[in-house]
Amino acid sequence: MKTRIVRELGELRSLVARWRKHGDGVAVVPTMGALHAGHLALAGAACESGDRVVVTIFVNPKQFNSPDDLARYPRTEEADAKLLAPLGVEVIYVPETGDVYPPGFATTVSVAAIGSGLEDKYRPGHFDGVATIVAKLLAMTQADRAWFGEKDYQQLMVVRTMARDLNIPVEVIGHPTMRDADGLAMSSRNARLSPQERSVAPALNAALRRAAEAIIAGARPVDAADAARHEIIAAGFRSAEYVEMRTAAALAPMATLDQPARLLAAAWLGKVRLIDNIAVD
Ligand code: AMP
Repeated sequence: MKTRIVRELGELRSLVARWRKHGDGVAVVPTMGALHAGHLALAGAACESGDRVVVTIFVNPKQFNSPDDLARYPRTEEADAKLLAPLGVEVIYVPETGDVYPPGFATTVSVAAIGSGLEDKYRPGHFDGVATIVAKLLAMTQADRAWFGEKDYQQLMVVRTMARDLNIPVEVIGHPTMRDADGLAMSSRNARLSPQERSVAPALNAALRRAAEAIIAGARPVDAADAARHEIIAAGFRSAEYVEMRTAAALAPMATLDQPARLLAAAWLGKVRLIDNIAVD
């Protein structure tokens, strides 16, 4: 099977209509490209589920907080296509920005208070951008299933809530975070780390793991999170925006480990902002 690169919505829609006529299911894996093994795990799992798979590549300007981050975001479409073809992906949908946000575009999808105080606090407007583009991609692809990584745990919850609240007939599936051997969560932004920063980066995940162990052993979550914050800075991170334990189900604040939880963190390493999260249960 040949993987097709589709840039026009009309072409995507007629392919999807043909698949549906055959009774096939459709899955979408939204990405911003610069694909790594984390993205490929999502796409591979989607293909294995038996659906026709559309991977979207769109660097969504509405979800960036700084023009610099948007300008520096890696764009590697040709390499991305080569990585997706062997997995069995049917279509790589690469819409033009002008088609996604035509003149007069006026709608924002905004999901309130899912895990407030985490990414939303440090990236104002980010999840409006995410919810809006994902709602659009779900409408464009008419997917039955949509795959998202737990790497962006709050995003996964925002998308789930949005799809439920808007009665979008899609199943949102979360996939575990893929990591390098030293624990660093794979991310397109890792490519921007210097060799020295790359050697420091696994400290973020190591600190979270140690904090989770301490909490399970009986430490107060705030104390364990504080210790993790210090550890991250001592390792060489410039600053830690948040390290917090929240409920896994709704990302609500919690003081004691009385239900499945998630430890989440964001920290700056030089000019690169890294996020990570792990289960505590
Ligand atoms: P992005 O291109 O960064 O917007 O990511 C596209 C999708 O891939 C999102 O659902 C991410 O959560 C997911 N993803 C990114 N990195 C990883 C990873 N290391 N493991 C699993 N999923 C990931």
